[in-house]
Amino acid sequence: VRIAINGTGVAGPTLAYWLKRYGHEPVLFESAPALRTGGYMIDFWGVGYTVAERMGILPELHEKGYKIERLQIVGKTGKKAIQVSTDFLQKSLDDRFLSIARGDLAATIYRACGPVEGRFGTHIVGMEQRDDGVVAQLSNGSDETFDLVIGADGLHSHIRRLAFGEEADYEQSMHAYVAAFTLSGYRPRDELTYVTCPIRKRHVGRVSLRGDKTLFIFTFRSELVESVLQSPEEQRRALQTVFGEMGWEVPAILARLDEAEDLYFDHVSQIRMNRWTSGRVALIGDAVACVSLLAGEGTGLAMTEAYVLAGELHRASGDYRAAFQSYEQLLQPFLAQKQRSAIKMLSFFAAKNSWKLALAKGVLRAASIPFVFQWLLGPTLRDDLELPDYSTQARDSPH
Ligand SMILES: Cc1cc2nc3c(=O)[nH]c(=O)nc-3n(C[C@H](O)[C@H](O)[C@H](O)COP(=O)(O)OP(=O)(O)OC[C@H]3O[C@@H](n4cnc5c(N)ncnc54)[C@H](O)[C@@H]3O)c2cc1C
Repeated sequence: VRIAINGTGVAGPTLAYWLKRYGHEPVLFESAPALRTGGYMIDFWGVGYTVAERMGILPELHEKGYKIERLQIVGKTGKKAIQVSTDFLQKSLDDRFLSIARGDLAATIYRACGPVEGRFGTHIVGMEQRDDGVVAQLSNGSDETFDLVIGADGLHSHIRRLAFGEEADYEQSMHAYVAAFTLSGYRPRDELTYVTCPIRKRHVGRVSLRGDKTLFIFTFRSELVESVLQSPEEQRRALQTVFGEMGWEVPAILARLDEAEDLYFDHVSQIRMNRWTSGRVALIGDAVACVSLLAGEGTGLAMTEAYVLAGELHRASGDYRAAFQSYEQLLQPFLAQKQRSAIKMLSFFAAKNSWKLALAKGVLRAASIPFVFQWLLGPTLRDDLELPDYSTQARDSPH
């Protein structure tokens, strides 16, 4: 079966890997001219970790990733308020947890595919579904026919727009913005430590990376700005205005904002859809069920959706209608539950008022006590999903 995948992030290459393994012919499209490198740091665990294990890429992920050892909360004056070891987290997840740059995860998955048709700088701009296939109109002006088209093009998916309608119909705003960027040569450095300074409605964090780089993440409630922030100039200006008076190291960080070449800025949203497929088109990853960065598990969940979709297609011997139905039935309740848990995390990133901020800090302090940790954070971290094993039905890998 010839399958077009629009989007070469995390979900797209995972799907290509499994489709190839089951003897299909995936073609990856990507609007960017090359695989995106670097990017913000992601935490990686849960069902996605198991998918990565089944792909045999865990050793490479551990080699490129980091094992963050502690979390440090500082006040506006820079005084250390709380320091918590991440031992409790590692133990509760049986050490199946790592942190890694999103770009390194995506590149590792892409490489694991072996030879695969990847068309960078070309993407699907239009589609026409027919009884025997989908005609995809490509950004280079040509048309090509595929058996199926999969949208793996992230939170602002174009395939979703083409097949299901406007983003606004599916977007659930978290009423917050996020910015992430890296700087070189920043001081101080705190190795293997996530240092964070939360105040009411705002949060700044930093983590030291290899190669003398530091990653910064800023989150804030959207009510702190008057209009929707669209242009990069507006976004940079808003960061200066919202965080300018914050204290700690923030003025020094913002003074270097113009040096950041990789500024990521977006509003924090979830995507909630009742249907994940339409005819010969299906969506995976953030395009269909974005949990938002608040869940801290979006990449693993995107990989899970890709794994299950490919597996169900395999199990149904290419009967895409049956496969699409099983794909939705198996994952929709699980993702809905993950999205509900993620919303509760907003207080950790940008507490609305002082008591919620104090509560979030208290929770963190108490979380180092194992049973309290299980009680408080267990439901967010735990994945109540038995990942199907499709290996008995799998043909040998063609690569
Ligand atoms: C600041 C931040 C922190 C996060 N922290 C974590 C974390 O700790 N742990 C975690 O697991 N997740 C985290 N996430 C979420 C995670 O990054 C996403 O859930 C995950 O990347 C989703 O994978 P995806 O492949 O669906 O989408 P993406 O990774 O966004 O990939 C989509 C791809 O599609 C391409 N594309 C876009 N539009 C088009 C188009 N029209 N045509 C063709 N290609 C297109 C893009 O260039 C990109 O390559 C975080 C997100 C953010 C923003």
